[in-house]
Amino acid sequence: MIDAAIHTEKITKKYDGVTAVDSVDITVEKGELFGLLGPNGAGKSTLIGMLSTMLRPTSGNAQVWDYDIKRDATKVRKSIGVVFQDTTLDQKLTGRENLDLHGRLYGLPKKSRHQRIDEVLELVELSEWADEIVQKYSGGMMRRLEIARGLMHHPNVLFMDEPTLGLDPQTRNHIWDYIKELNREKNITIILTTHYMEEADRLCNRLAIIDHGKIITSGTPMELKSSLGGDILNLEFTTNEDTAKLIEHYSANTLAGSISASGNTVQITTAEGERTIPDVLKVTSQIGLDIQSVSLHKPTLDDVFLHYTGKGIRDSDTDAGKIKTMRRRRHAGK
Ligand code: ADP
Ligand code: MG
Repeated sequence: MIDAAIHTEKITKKYDGVTAVDSVDITVEKGELFGLLGPNGAGKSTLIGMLSTMLRPTSGNAQVWDYDIKRDATKVRKSIGVVFQDTTLDQKLTGRENLDLHGRLYGLPKKSRHQRIDEVLELVELSEWADEIVQKYSGGMMRRLEIARGLMHHPNVLFMDEPTLGLDPQTRNHIWDYIKELNREKNITIILTTHYMEEADRLCNRLAIIDHGKIITSGTPMELKSSLGGDILNLEFTTNEDTAKLIEHYSANTLAGSISASGNTVQITTAEGERTIPDVLKVTSQIGLDIQSVSLHKPTLDDVFLHYTGKGIRDSDTDAGKIKTMRRRRHAGK
């Protein structure tokens, strides 16, 4: 027995011609707030679908709270709550009625059902809205009600698929607070998917980056950012030709760090950002490039994604956003 909250073994889902989830191995420990970060179409919802027993894997398998998702689907379902990407609330029913329906589906007896409804409504601060129809709720209130519903049957694990998708920044912050509270105070293991780097960074104690159905890398946000080995130096040029020239120069000479380019911007990852700036400026002036701006920052998860996939999370949906990546390291084999 593995005693993890989630353990997958080469779990795979294929649709005609598309491998939505490709031989994924992940382990999520009990008590973690674990993130799956990836662009649209990466396979996040499909993976959650299989783990929550809504979708059957094409091959591979998984255990959720030590139950096999194929053999013990009913036990898995009793151990988990799910907040889906698209709302599944009944708009014509009140908040309380939506929760009651869910409690009946899970066979909660009337008395404990009513008590639990009051508890979860209070938890997400919707007690005063309990008897209004959901149609009158704002987007953030609906999301909170869905979280409340996911908690009705005291799950050990809560899956949240893009929990703050489409919400304004203030509401998003509010939802983040609930998620943290559920994890820390109620001790619920949470697996959330997101394509917002900030969300993954702020909330998750550990995360896996997923792209084209494959796990690219995983670790704590800090580990992932440190894995780039330094600071990020961004150089913006007046023309795209200038970026190409700098890349060419880099490939012809051995210079510090790794370099990649997107449009008129060049990104250099370097161990000593402050010291690299003068060197780079010297080179650009020698080969006559026109620099518009220079900035230096600590790596973000977006930089991590760019580093491992050669594209940004935001522009990974379009081919136009694909950029050339080239790496050169002073210490080969490092
Ligand atoms: P994400 O949630 O990360 O945006 P999805 O899991 O929804 O990604 O989709 C992963 C891939 O699988 C996409 O290419 C998507 O088009 C494809 N896909 C998802 N569901 C289906 C389906 N029911 N039939 C065919 N292809 C699907
Ligand atoms: Mg999705």
